[in-house]
Amino acid sequence: MRFTDIPGHDDVKARLREMVDAGRIPHALLLEGPAGSGKFALARAFAQYVHCTSRTADGDSCGQCPACRQNETFNHIDTVYSFPVVKRSGKPALSDDYAEDFRQFMAESPYMDFDRWLVALDNINAQPQIYVEEGNELLRRLSFMTRGSKFKVVLLWLPERFKEETANKLLKLVEEPFADTIFVMVSNNSRAILPTIYSRTQRIAVRRYDDGEVAAILRASGFDEETSADAARIASGNVNEALKLAGVSKERLQYFDLFVSLMRQAYARKVKELREWSVTVAGLGREPAMQFIDYCERLVRESFIMHLSDPRLLTVNSTEMAFAVKFFPFINEKNVLDMIALFDAARRDIAGNANGKIVFFDLAVKVIMLIRRK
Ligand SMILES: [Zn+2]
Repeated sequence: MRFTDIPGHDDVKARLREMVDAGRIPHALLLEGPAGSGKFALARAFAQYVHCTSRTADGDSCGQCPACRQNETFNHIDTVYSFPVVKRSGKPALSDDYAEDFRQFMAESPYMDFDRWLVALDNINAQPQIYVEEGNELLRRLSFMTRGSKFKVVLLWLPERFKEETANKLLKLVEEPFADTIFVMVSNNSRAILPTIYSRTQRIAVRRYDDGEVAAILRASGFDEETSADAARIASGNVNEALKLAGVSKERLQYFDLFVSLMRQAYARKVKELREWSVTVAGLGREPAMQFIDYCERLVRESFIMHLSDPRLLTVNSTEMAFAVKFFPFINEKNVLDMIALFDAARRDIAGNANGKIVFFDLAVKVIMLIRRK
């Protein structure tokens, strides 16, 4: 990863570059800022810049020398990755046990989508942490000399997920660092970092991307102009969110059509059509059906928010907006909570493997009653 591979953040890049050029690199750096803003990519580019043997005149790593190539492929011996993991059946939980998964994750998700990391860990409900064994392992690894480079760089993802005992282990490293060690911590939620660690880091704030920057990143990944702009507007500067939104846009169109026909036919009390509708939704399959429920909830919520008449609060795209403008009078204080509760109950039933046709038909019938409530 070179600095030039990362859009924006010129101020942060300049600071990181200056530290290296001036030979004043702090032993513990913290890049803090919202998720999906490219912080870890900046940390990777920094490590590569530190190790590069042939830096360019404009202040970047060369991308060609052996050190750069090793960093690009996550194989540089003096770049150490440390990150939250889950325990597997009583074994000590080390980042190294997941090294290959993490390499693949970094390659596929340079903006470090935490949800994707949970999927890689094979447990979307997990609360991965950085365990004390990992602290011991870092102490051990860092006590060796570097091999061929001046510095060992530890890229530590999410220090807010330290176990307290891990933090205490690492505190020693941060207080009395090895001369050749640089810690670069990257945090989405720095207020949750233990104060003893936090106060000993040199902090660099990384701001969220603005909508224009997010849209440009999406266009560069092959999405068309409208999809990119829509997703960027909804994603609040989080590139991972925007990529997800843009990626599901085809499904989203289908969900939109299904949502509209549910509401229209419920209002018109067309029971036969609603029965057909429930067969269609059940036919989507379990996972898509649950995504569809999430989608419905969001549109109901957004339609209700329209009463507050501040369109900036909305996270709908232009097609949804056109519908929501007509639909919002039907969602009001008398029915919004019950409507959300209906979708919640349907989600629980579907998650519990209930018969989709029955669940969705039941839902549709209740929507008939709620939609006219004023
Ligand atoms: Zn290089």
